[in-house]
Amino acid sequence: MGDTWITDLTHFLNEDGSFPANIPGPALNLALFLSAIVAWVTSHAPDEYDETNVTCRRSPGRKRCLGTIVARLKDGEAVEWGCPVCGDNGVIRGWESTPWDRRDG
Ligand SMILES: [Zn+2]
Repeated sequence: MGDTWITDLTHFLNEDGSFPANIPGPALNLALFLSAIVAWVTSHAPDEYDETNVTCRRSPGRKRCLGTIVARLKDGEAVEWGCPVCGDNGVIRGWESTPWDRRDG
């Protein structure tokens, strides 16, 4: 089964919302993955899990997972996501007012 990732997007970013120049590659990959989910969820705002346009980033047993991430917006504040294939899942907070917050207004 996959891991559960509790993440705060602001922890990956500079105060101006950009990525730090010295962010390690794996952290940058994770941040890009999480921000893509946030961008999708904040533009669709699904109450129930719905399929996003983000593909799973895991490669269990060195074989790339072919799952498509599902996600929803819980109580307007927590972005919950998961991969139906490998079970990787997590919760993203701290996405408000990042460059990927696509809510209107
Ligand atoms: Zn997966």
